[in-house]
Amino acid sequence: MTHTAASSGPGTGRKLLLIGGGHSHVEVLRRFGRHPVADMALTLLSRDRHTPYSGMLPGYVAGHYRWADVHIDLARLARFAGARFIQDTATGLMLEDRTVRCESGYVLPWDRLSLNIGSTPSLEATGAAEHAVAVKPIHRFNDRWLALLARVREGSRRLRIAVVGGGAGGVELLLAMQYRLRRECHALGQDPDRLAFALFTRGRTILPTHPTGVQRRFLHVLAERGIGLHCGTAVSAVDATGLETEDGRHHRADEVVWVTRAGGPEWLCETGLALDSQGFIKVRESLQTVTDPDVFAAGDIASMVRHPREKAGVVAVRQGPPLAANLRRSLTGRPVRAWRPQRHWLALISTGDRYAVASRGWLGFGGRWLWHCKDWIDRRFMRRYRTRDD
Ligand SMILES: Cc1cc2nc3c(=O)[nH]c(=O)nc-3n(C[C@H](O)[C@H](O)[C@H](O)COP(=O)(O)OP(=O)(O)OC[C@H]3O[C@@H](n4cnc5c(N)ncnc54)[C@H](O)[C@@H]3O)c2cc1C
Repeated sequence: MTHTAASSGPGTGRKLLLIGGGHSHVEVLRRFGRHPVADMALTLLSRDRHTPYSGMLPGYVAGHYRWADVHIDLARLARFAGARFIQDTATGLMLEDRTVRCESGYVLPWDRLSLNIGSTPSLEATGAAEHAVAVKPIHRFNDRWLALLARVREGSRRLRIAVVGGGAGGVELLLAMQYRLRRECHALGQDPDRLAFALFTRGRTILPTHPTGVQRRFLHVLAERGIGLHCGTAVSAVDATGLETEDGRHHRADEVVWVTRAGGPEWLCETGLALDSQGFIKVRESLQTVTDPDVFAAGDIASMVRHPREKAGVVAVRQGPPLAANLRRSLTGRPVRAWRPQRHWLALISTGDRYAVASRGWLGFGGRWLWHCKDWIDRRFMRRYRTRDD
């Protein structure tokens, strides 16, 4: 980005508080940085300073990208937008007082509020919170991933890695992990077959929201790569030695990665905001919550009442521009506008080895060139949020 910081410094005028540095809020910050609203104090409150771009996460694990390539520095982006950046976690929201409470005890006032906090993995199986690692928060996953890499590099014993969750995230992540870890073994002159991989899903098949042709392709890839597949059985417990499935079987595992369907965080239940059955905030077509027109939500945490959609980064990205526009309209006293999400979009699911499968509606096809398209799209996306000092 080449524009200089916005003039709307913190501490004056109407207060717009953004909670979470997700895919929609980064676009809000970029737009407010380029075209500031006069007499507005903008604050970004986020648990993490570095927010990962989901599309590139499996590529980072596979070793195609560096850590710095796949995340956006929110403190820098906030500076560009003339916003105050607070690294803290929201734990409460008081609609009557127009305040948000943070983990540190800080209380932040707002006139307009927007939530883009993603979804919270439900580590519901006994012992999962203690023994498994979820993909989010990302810094915790990354620490555990780096530790696993080190274990593979330093040891020579057999290691079993299990991924729980048969959606696109789980399948992509597993294939990326296998690709990277086997390459590490090769590079060290070790037998890569000392690493065993397995995928567990309660669904009858993998990738349930994708066409059968795409499911078949990935079933073939998993079989070809010797990955154990356990469909139709939920994981009921995780301990230090592995995991147990609902049919009572115990499966040994040295690392359990949790990528199952997620929900909204507990603290939202206390806020008075209307939530759907999974704990996501119900929003209108304007991205205003159904409860309070001064409170907006976007990305995974938002549940569009009239247009329910799958939770995906691409939806959160597309909500960025209408969210920014409606926040601006709301702050300047103009009527907000309705926005309708697309029914179908192109998903590019990678197989770890610089190959991707395209999935849209009933359509599915694959190729190396598709991975390069994905790479180009993802890198272009990231460039939008790099400030001059990045
Ligand atoms: C391995 C994997 C691969 C995926 N690949 C794709 C893909 O290729 N394409 C795709 O469309 N989707 C993909 N997804 C899904 C995608 O990750 C999510 O749909 C997307 O990240 C949701 O974005 P978001 O903007 O809602 O929130 P997020 O990107 O999750 O961002 C949430 C932000 O809020 C902050 N935050 C959270 N809680 C709080 C709090 N209480 N207080 C303050 N800050 C908070 C976090 O620090 C973070 O900055 C993938 C998912 C996984 C697990």
